[in-house]
Amino acid sequence: MAYRYLFGPVRSRRLGTSLGVDLVPLKTCTLSCVYCECGRTTCLTMERREYVPTDRVIAEVDEYLAEDPDLDYVTFAGSGEPTLHSGIGKIISFIKDRYPRYRIAVLTNGTLFTDPDVRAALMRADLIVPSLDAISEEVFRKINCPCPGLTAGDLLEGLKTFAEEFTGEMWLEVFIVRGLNDTEDEILSLKDAIAAIGPDRVQVNTLDRPGAEVWVRPAPPHDLERIASTLGGDTEVIGTVCTGQVLPPRSGEVIDLLLATIRRRPCTLDDLTVLLGLRPAEVSKCLRVLEAEGRVEQAREERGVFYRAV
Ligand code: SF4
Repeated sequence: MAYRYLFGPVRSRRLGTSLGVDLVPLKTCTLSCVYCECGRTTCLTMERREYVPTDRVIAEVDEYLAEDPDLDYVTFAGSGEPTLHSGIGKIISFIKDRYPRYRIAVLTNGTLFTDPDVRAALMRADLIVPSLDAISEEVFRKINCPCPGLTAGDLLEGLKTFAEEFTGEMWLEVFIVRGLNDTEDEILSLKDAIAAIGPDRVQVNTLDRPGAEVWVRPAPPHDLERIASTLGGDTEVIGTVCTGQVLPPRSGEVIDLLLATIRRRPCTLDDLTVLLGLRPAEVSKCLRVLEAEGRVEQAREERGVFYRAV
């Protein structure tokens, strides 16, 4: 079966071997973060609905997991905000009932956590990774470009309420945009907010791939270390992709795997090699074919040449 709503498994920096489940069309979100690897949000919305058919997603997950693949996580992420999908709770429950050995992670911006239905839908997940980049409304608007009416105050309240109810793990991600949320004032406000939320881990991240806006630049490593130490001793700076056993492509053509990955975020040749566990020569050959067919294009960035789907 060629999977439409699953991608990977990829070697995630934080989650190990992770099978992605993508519940919204590119690019559907409540925010339009300037650093978003998926580009600018084209459908900026707070409306929860069945963006892709729940039963079809469940059928794909069922077929994939029935073969007992070795995964660290099944991860809801991809082309936008997964909690916008009204069937996410049903899909999580299906996996937990039928395949209880798999851990479930949800990468979310947390903006819908003020909605009790959203919180209830996520209760059976093992790990929630929400983001919080700014406390001041001005910086929140500059970095996260929210849906009209959505405030940093709402986001913080939702995160606090969710953390009180959720019994699984919560890792909070703070994405640093140089010149915007790296000031002493903003970091100290974030520190207070994090203390009020009480996540299990805090992870500081910065730009690693081209963002939605070309002016966004990564924070230098020494700034990330300074920010992590201000936020508190346990705050981690996110490292590079973990190494170790690399999965061979499980099914389908290598080209499909490459396209499914770079459709969701631009990658370098090295990223693809590590993420997908393929040989560089194999990736390079497929990229040349895709470029010749006009399905992939290159863009040179600070970290190297990135490939993106056309
Ligand atoms: S980074 Fe996440 S929250 Fe921000 S626009 Fe992209 S998908 Fe939405």
